[in-house]
Amino acid sequence: MLTRFTVFPFILTFVICQSVFAAKPASKSSPSAAPTAAPSAPKVTKPVVDQTAQVLVFGWHRVVDKVRRPDTEITPQDFEKQMQELKDHGITVIGMQDLLAWKRGEKSIPPRCAILTLDDGWKSQYEVGWPILKKFGYPFTLFIYTEGVRGGHFGGGEAMTWEMLSEMRDAGVDIEAHSATHQDLRKPYDKVTKKKLSPPEYEQWLQNEIVGSKQLLEQKLGIKVNCFAVPYGFYNEHIKEVCRNAGYEAVFTVYGQPITYTSPLDSLGRYLIEGNKPKVFTDAVKLIGTSTGGATAVAEVGANSLSTQPTDGETVRTALPLIKANLSGIAGIDPGSVQMRVSGLGVVPASYDPKTGTVAYQVTQKLRDKSCTVILTVKSEGKKIETHWTFGIEESGAGTSISPSVAPTPKK
Ligand SMILES: [Zn+2]
Repeated sequence: MLTRFTVFPFILTFVICQSVFAAKPASKSSPSAAPTAAPSAPKVTKPVVDQTAQVLVFGWHRVVDKVRRPDTEITPQDFEKQMQELKDHGITVIGMQDLLAWKRGEKSIPPRCAILTLDDGWKSQYEVGWPILKKFGYPFTLFIYTEGVRGGHFGGGEAMTWEMLSEMRDAGVDIEAHSATHQDLRKPYDKVTKKKLSPPEYEQWLQNEIVGSKQLLEQKLGIKVNCFAVPYGFYNEHIKEVCRNAGYEAVFTVYGQPITYTSPLDSLGRYLIEGNKPKVFTDAVKLIGTSTGGATAVAEVGANSLSTQPTDGETVRTALPLIKANLSGIAGIDPGSVQMRVSGLGVVPASYDPKTGTVAYQVTQKLRDKSCTVILTVKSEGKKIETHWTFGIEESGAGTSISPSVAPTPKK
């Protein structure tokens, strides 16, 4: 039953795979977009995504009544409690594809999110986990290793069948790859055939684990697979490269950490939740969740100490100012947490250079009010720090007033 699938992927490997990376157009602005004098030229506005959002990615294995292996099992009661905890802490569960769209800058996500993943294709996920997730209306992702599906080399009675996977797919469950045989992909040793692999054999084996598993899932289920979870979280540069060439958009490890806008897509950390370590889950939730006791404490920093541009109280002659601040005096800034709000615009896609500590945003849409307030927030060592300042604008185009505006003295 299995042999039917094992040879097949190799043939198609080089035919089908079109790297998502390669297909994606460079996100740099086109050099031909020189400013023209046309006053009514249509403006192409990029969606402004909230770059300060944070995402926790969680992973579970089996959901069982009697926990025998606490490292990979959890009771339905505890699992359900955790689902409730997310809700209680104001964390929105989003789907995997929303995370990727946000990382591409195409879609905003709520400020505090979680992604739920279930590993290895255990039947208890279908029978016990899924009904609980349905109850909460949470989207989730299955990371499947293809030889672990019923009928595969490791697919025993506790494994999900392809029919179960199809049913979950039809219900909107996201299904992604987790290798073919679930081994340490860094080691040139195939535990299934108990064979030490020569360098060319290793490459071929790796192709089957990373590319073949993707293609098998895509062919059996008629889906697009764009995420890979490395077994045990073990990976190296070469494995990442093979994943990239296979067209995976994201690679997941098991080193849990809040994912930010700038987290590299080829090693996104997941929190694997073990039945005997509930603190891992609770701590992660606390890290980004809202405290139930009210608003989170915010420390104020004076704008003067950040050498802002324009400075507080200054009046500028343009409705299209460059807004800048120097955050180098604040230690331990989480680069993904830097957020700039501009009155009249909301959150703007400001750039932050961690090397110089400079955060900057060139206003591209004329500010309409005579004064503008900038609110900058950053997270430093888990604490939220905020600063705000206000500057005036005196330009003929500024404001909605119909009274003759005070024309700025022309400068020579
Ligand atoms: Zn696994």
